[in-house]
Amino acid sequence: MTRRTLLIGAGAGVVGILLASCTPEPAPTPTPDRSPTPQPTAGSITPAAFARSSWATDSFALGAASFTPVGTQGSARDALAEPIDGRLFLAGEATDAEAPGTMAAAVRSGERAAGQLRRAADDGERVAIIGAGLAGATAAALLVADGLQVTVFEARDRIGGRIHSVVDEKAWPFPAQLGGWLIGASDVALLDELNRLDVRTATLAGSLWRSTDGDVDAVSTEPVQAAIAAAQQGLEDASVEDALTAAGADPAEPGLAALLASVAASSGADPASLSTWFPPSLPPDESTAPLGDLTPTIEGLLEGAKLSLSSPVSRVAYDESGVSLGIASGESLSFDRVLITVPLGVLKSEGLQFAPALPFGHRGAIADLGMGQIETIWLRFDDPLIAAAPETDDDADATADETGPAIWHVVGGDALIRTWYNLAPVTGENVVVGIVGGEAAEKFAALDDQKALEAAIDSLGPFLASSS
Ligand SMILES: Cc1cc2nc3c(=O)[nH]c(=O)nc-3n(C[C@H](O)[C@H](O)[C@H](O)COP(=O)(O)OP(=O)(O)OC[C@H]3O[C@@H](n4cnc5c(N)ncnc54)[C@H](O)[C@@H]3O)c2cc1C
Repeated sequence: MTRRTLLIGAGAGVVGILLASCTPEPAPTPTPDRSPTPQPTAGSITPAAFARSSWATDSFALGAASFTPVGTQGSARDALAEPIDGRLFLAGEATDAEAPGTMAAAVRSGERAAGQLRRAADDGERVAIIGAGLAGATAAALLVADGLQVTVFEARDRIGGRIHSVVDEKAWPFPAQLGGWLIGASDVALLDELNRLDVRTATLAGSLWRSTDGDVDAVSTEPVQAAIAAAQQGLEDASVEDALTAAGADPAEPGLAALLASVAASSGADPASLSTWFPPSLPPDESTAPLGDLTPTIEGLLEGAKLSLSSPVSRVAYDESGVSLGIASGESLSFDRVLITVPLGVLKSEGLQFAPALPFGHRGAIADLGMGQIETIWLRFDDPLIAAAPETDDDADATADETGPAIWHVVGGDALIRTWYNLAPVTGENVVVGIVGGEAAEKFAALDDQKALEAAIDSLGPFLASSS
């Protein structure tokens, strides 16, 4: 079915007149995630393949993950999740107070919002979901199972949102993941689903901390945890940076700075911005990395729903009788209820217009919560970087305990990317993944491909040097 026939099929009914005068608006386009041809770098080492994300400029994300800025109450997320007039429902990682900015949060939020909507709806109602990311797809599966007529509008020409597996067998032995990727041990539902779909995974564990002078002692997260715990006793929220300073630590000390860079790479924000009352998760000792395409997971959840790709919603008009959606192409379509899962960055930019405006509680939450920046770069080399990779058995999940540290931390110097995952020990492939967050991610995002590649190779310097 083409997009047009699908939309016409979905459009009959409830409050179509609300947007009768809606004028067509040009659809914004996301900046494509790039898999450019690697060019020789100034440092003479050239990868065989590289891919990088550009979430900062992607108009359907406008950032990577929500975070709680210092001074903001965690209850802002509950305020954002509050249903509006029984017609509008909100999901997405930013509405989850437990572990915002994660895939688990997206799943949980989709389950919560689907439950809220289901309780408000009569059997067989027509429901729209805006966004075919993990939150929207999770909700779609539940609502379809309950017999509602579900249409999912997705702005991009692909599903998955901030989960993006780049499948290119010529460049990559397994898909390069440019968005959500690593799964914590507590994300049992996601791990079960990957197992069910036979997606190969690897456990990434063990860390190597290195400066240009050689290996340095591993930096423990305990002092950071202690500083956060002490700051939580205060009458006012303090930033993670201020908490560390108050505890006598120097956040600029190279080892601690490398640890804080990895916190920024998972939270999207720097320690000066992060709340201690509602602190980010500190990097776990180990996580699970899917080595397969994540798209089928989302596809499976969307089964039974009508899916309309390349359909950015630009306007949501609601009253007591229903909801009307304005699609950027100029069409307007009516539904009984709508579930909105667009990223916080899109809500902040007012990329979606509401009529009437959202209640103050929602607008306050959107203004107060932060949208963090995370970018990722995947590099594949023809030769091992620092050590020959051991043979692995494709059928069995390997663990880094047997094969060497998977997480590299770059200590000192002026590296832009300080956190790297070395996939060679667990896959036998010379693939490394750099993850950068906060202000460094903004700088990285602003570089052209050649400069980004050079910055990545420069950042890897301490690890490359020791191979010679
Ligand atoms: C670089 C990076 C690394 C990450 N690493 C991890 C990790 O290791 N582990 C982890 O757990 N999480 C990680 N995350 C976070 C995780 O990917 C997200 O929390 C999760 O995927 C968000 O899902 P969502 O459904 O809430 O939002 P999204 O996936 O963003 O879905 C929202 C959807 O809405 C669509 N949309 C936007 N505007 C419109 C519109 N106007 N009309 C119609 N559709 C619209 C978007 O295109 C998108 O498909 C990472 C994120 C990034 C960016």
